[in-house]
Amino acid sequence: MNIALIAHDEKKELMIQFCIAYCGILSRNNLCATGTTGKIVSESTGLEITGFLAGSQGGDQQIAARIACNEIDMLLFFRDPLNPKPNEPNDMNLLRLCDMHNIPVATNIATAEVLIHGLERGDLDWRNIIK
Ligand code: PGA
Repeated sequence: MNIALIAHDEKKELMIQFCIAYCGILSRNNLCATGTTGKIVSESTGLEITGFLAGSQGGDQQIAARIACNEIDMLLFFRDPLNPKPNEPNDMNLLRLCDMHNIPVATNIATAEVLIHGLERGDLDWRNIIK
C-alpha cells in the first residue's frame, strides 16, 4: 500500500512517535511524505520515505496530485487544529480528493491508529483489487 504522511509543525513530534510505534507495519508499505515530515520521520525511524517538496513549497500538492490519480491508499495528515501556519498545507483540497476516491484518511492519531490496525488486518486489501 502507498501511505502518505503530512504533519503540521505542531504535530511533527506526534508523527514521529506514531511512526516509531508502528514502524514494523509501516516498513512493509511504500511511504511518501512532505519534505520536512519525511526527513524527520526517516531520521528518527530509519524508514525509507519518498520525500516530496516541503509543504510550504507545494509538497502537499504533489501528494494531492497522486491522490487525484488514485495512487495513494492511505493519508495520515496530522493537522494543527488550533494555529495552523498560513504556509502549512490546507486540508480541504486533500480531504476532498480522498473523498473522491474513497481513500482512508486520518487527521488525528486516534483515527490513524485505527487505520493502521485495519491495514494490518487486511481491511484495506480491497484497494489492491480496484487497482
Ligand atoms: P512539511 O510540510 O512536512 O514540509 O513541514 C507540512 C507542513 O508544512 O505542515
